[in-house]
Amino acid sequence: MQARWWRSGFFYMLLLVAIVALVFAFVPRERPEELSLGEFVEKAKPTPVNGEVVLQMDTIRQDGDTLIGLKDKEPKFKAAFVGSTTELRDYLEKEGVVVGPGGIDIDVEEGGVDWGIIALQVIVPIVLLGALFYFLFFRAARGAGTQAFNFSKSRARLALENRSTVTFADVAGAEEAKEEVQEIVEFLKAPQKFQALGGRIPRGILLVGPPGTGKTLLAKAIAGEAKVPFYSISGSEFVEMFVGVGAARVRDLFEQAKRNSPCLIFIDEIDAVGRHRGAGLGGGHDEREQTLNQILAEMDGFDTSVNIIVMAATNRPDILDPALLRPGRFDRHIVIDLPDIRGRKAILEVHGKGKPLAKEANLETVAKGTPGFSGADLANLINEAAILAARRNRKDITLKELEDAADRTMAGPERKSRVISPREKEIIAYHESGHALTARMLPNADPVHKISVVARGMAGGWTRFLPTEDRYLWTKSQFNDRLAVSLGGRVAEEIIFGEMSTGGQNDLEQATKLARKMVVEYGMSEKLGPRTFGQKQELVFLGREISEHKDYGDKIADAIDEEVHNLIQRAYNTTKKTLTANKAKLKQLSEELMTHETLDEDQLNRIFEGLTPQPTSG
Ligand code: ADP
Ligand code: MG
Ligand code: ZN
Repeated sequence: MQARWWRSGFFYMLLLVAIVALVFAFVPRERPEELSLGEFVEKAKPTPVNGEVVLQMDTIRQDGDTLIGLKDKEPKFKAAFVGSTTELRDYLEKEGVVVGPGGIDIDVEEGGVDWGIIALQVIVPIVLLGALFYFLFFRAARGAGTQAFNFSKSRARLALENRSTVTFADVAGAEEAKEEVQEIVEFLKAPQKFQALGGRIPRGILLVGPPGTGKTLLAKAIAGEAKVPFYSISGSEFVEMFVGVGAARVRDLFEQAKRNSPCLIFIDEIDAVGRHRGAGLGGGHDEREQTLNQILAEMDGFDTSVNIIVMAATNRPDILDPALLRPGRFDRHIVIDLPDIRGRKAILEVHGKGKPLAKEANLETVAKGTPGFSGADLANLINEAAILAARRNRKDITLKELEDAADRTMAGPERKSRVISPREKEIIAYHESGHALTARMLPNADPVHKISVVARGMAGGWTRFLPTEDRYLWTKSQFNDRLAVSLGGRVAEEIIFGEMSTGGQNDLEQATKLARKMVVEYGMSEKLGPRTFGQKQELVFLGREISEHKDYGDKIADAIDEEVHNLIQRAYNTTKKTLTANKAKLKQLSEELMTHETLDEDQLNRIFEGLTPQPTSG
């Protein structure tokens, strides 16, 4: 956890007390030696010059014994005597021990309490218990930085004086995302204007992208551009708290925000609280769920007069609870991908500003050599280069430092995202080009919107399709072309390299799933006819398919498998024919893709010019 509990003064105080108590307990203290009365008298007889007998009204012994001790500052010996003080005096004198002046004194210490024993038996356990309690509960409940007992005050950091100074100029290479949020900035600047026109502005915006791509930065920039307060809180802070505390924090946060609207609330790492409810172990009523419900309730409670924008960031949109994504909540998604070559150059420029870059230090070269780097990696790279230059006693940062820093960042343990080798990049380029070209050549496939070799999530590259219209109905030929397109990557690899990589695994999975659906759900197989096979059982509260009830025999099962196989095989043949016929285009497209890393619709159209879709006998 990132909470810095070890930095708090309270923690040090406790540590000190514990150490003192332990030292107290373990340093050997001189304890009086217990003797029989006879032995005691022998010791006392030679008249210890400055000794005295201490009479302790012992509180521990219940048998009426009195403890006497021969004392030299601290009692050295002790023995038990039954009787009163006078009786003891008489006894000692009779035994020949000189009592009084010149001899030993008798001193009565009432209810002698041994503080050492008390410390050992009472204080130490209390301190240890206290420490245990503190670590188990308070630390977890407090999280970082708040006062000890301030449970529910939201830790959203309000930077009113120091309102976010980040602007769009600081966010480089995320042009699309910046364009998309421009509207939000306008709204925050002058909400009345939007309200007067009755416009509906999205309240909840989800920023989706891998770590370090500038999601937090973008949110701050929006607040900075609009000059409104920025409240941020991280989902992971809620996870380790007392039940109920997270929800209370959310309430406080929204209350504070409402008082200072227009403003922006930013919930970082929302996946930490926003996972599928009911998917966790240990029952569904945990802290996360309550926190999540509170967030949803607050967002639902907004009426049109509330001028608050809620943004959230995640790199795992797939695990989010569907309730979060419903209309009126986080219904607008903005994807921030890893930067392509142009984006990387822009980010390097932003972070290189104000740093003594040597004239010949070409940032474009650095951008070219750093596929797979995130914005955070690139910021780190520039920083490392500056440190290297200083260590080498240079006055400026040259290409050498930049490249060494890149190597370092790549090899260093801090690199989390994957880095792509040139060979890998080539394979990915052909793979994605295969998808795109197939889609272009088949009349019933969705047009390609964008294609990239910049890794995103688990995928090496990606091809984004743009459906021409919202579809509720699909035809068989659309499905067939879709199957062919999903095999395009694999087939392209096969044609160019003679073998395929593991990169097409997900494609195959999707193709198989689709083909199976065509047969068992949509009745699109001529051989098996228009009926469905199998009954799905959905567990309502999980909202997911759990099992399938088989309502057909083994013979039919074999036939289904065969039909699925046939559909895929036919699609494969189509793809192979298409790509082989257009091998030159495939090469051209891949090469362009390798240089530019991302190709948008215009660039694609230019490359595809002159190609006309070929209807297939699917
Ligand atoms: P995320 O929230 O997506 O994990 P951050 O916004 O925390 O990423 O980014 C971390 C740092 O990386 C930023 O503070 C900034 O210095 C740098 N950075 C990331 N993306 C960009 C970008 N597009 N332009 C400039 N700097 C960036
Ligand atoms: Mg972040
Ligand atoms: Zn693919």
